Amino acid sequence: MFDHIVGYAEIKRHLKEDIKQGTIQTPLVFSGSPLSARMTMALELARLLHCDEHGAAACSCRRCVQHQLLRNQELYIIGERSTLEDIHYFLKALANAQGTSAQAHGETISTENHNKRRNTLKQMVMLRLAIFLKRFDTIILSKKRKSQVETVYQQLFECLHTPLSDEFPISLESIHRGVNSIAAYQTPDVESIRLVQEQCYYRGSNKHKLVLIENLNTLSMTVMHTLLKFVEEPPESLHIIATAQERPRHAQNLASRFHWLYLSTRSDEEQKMVSTSYFGKEASSLQALLVDADTSTFVEQLCDSFFVELDNQNGEFWRLMHTMDLKKSEEISLAILKKLPSKATGKYAPKLPALIRVCKESLQNIHERNVSSRSAIEEVYQHVK
Ligand SMILES: [Zn+2]
Repeated sequence: MFDHIVGYAEIKRHLKEDIKQGTIQTPLVFSGSPLSARMTMALELARLLHCDEHGAAACSCRRCVQHQLLRNQELYIIGERSTLEDIHYFLKALANAQGTSAQAHGETISTENHNKRRNTLKQMVMLRLAIFLKRFDTIILSKKRKSQVETVYQQLFECLHTPLSDEFPISLESIHRGVNSIAAYQTPDVESIRLVQEQCYYRGSNKHKLVLIENLNTLSMTVMHTLLKFVEEPPESLHIIATAQERPRHAQNLASRFHWLYLSTRSDEEQKMVSTSYFGKEASSLQALLVDADTSTFVEQLCDSFFVELDNQNGEFWRLMHTMDLKKSEEISLAILKKLPSKATGKYAPKLPALIRVCKESLQNIHERNVSSRSAIEEVYQHVK
């Protein structure tokens, strides 16, 4: 139970005890910074609440096997996934491992080890894809959303059914593009919350249903309002587990219904353990690994994506700034602001001074007031459109 998660000994000990005694208190929320394993904790708790056996790490009961790629029908995930970089990171690593046969980095590795590495990476991609796609599950998707994401969703979903040794039905590049193209639709609307509720009131199985809300603090006010009733009077046999970066200040009512577990910062030693086991290299900051270490290339890419987004209103740029640690995002936002003048051409050129001012304010707001990436992007659009 929770053994694969590094750190948080105290919290894990309490959770284990509560699970064994059947006294676990929900709704509960795992709160912590990005990459603090909030979602991993939440998913492990979900597995333990559903397990037919005693929740051993390698349990092979039907429900634990289903849970590996989140095929569990009684589990619903809603909310905005804050780090999509991890999917992209492993897609890139998998692409690199794809071409180089038994020769990697100048050293010869056996074909067997090479295949093993590829399978591990593929598994990493599939798990992240499963977590991402779960919120597009067609039975909890409003009609409008369904029509917007269905084709891409089906394509990506098929990837979760390919055996480890086979190639994905679409290219890694298409997976990358597909994920980006539907990412903007992941924040739930009121209709999808109602659909989740409907499913939870329907008693189709004798097992607990489970709703996992990712990033509670980035939900819109109307969605939080709809959720409040549900959280106040949940149907019998429902567990609600959430993750959050911090307590949503604008929705104290909802926040106070949850039992809050704070995942504090890991020690340097623990951080290194995570990065080595997870990414195969040592680093004190996981974010630094995900975000390309070469800041100038990264800034270049961000600047370009910023202007693309001004045209198509995809929220990826702000989402990224939102998930970065403060120091890194300050460094990057300064570099971006310096670069903007050379990039703002055509219709954006006359708006440059306003653009820079609003960007500065938004970046500050994101961190100081913990404004969601969606609100930040809306603020900028209002000023430059
Ligand atoms: Zn089990």
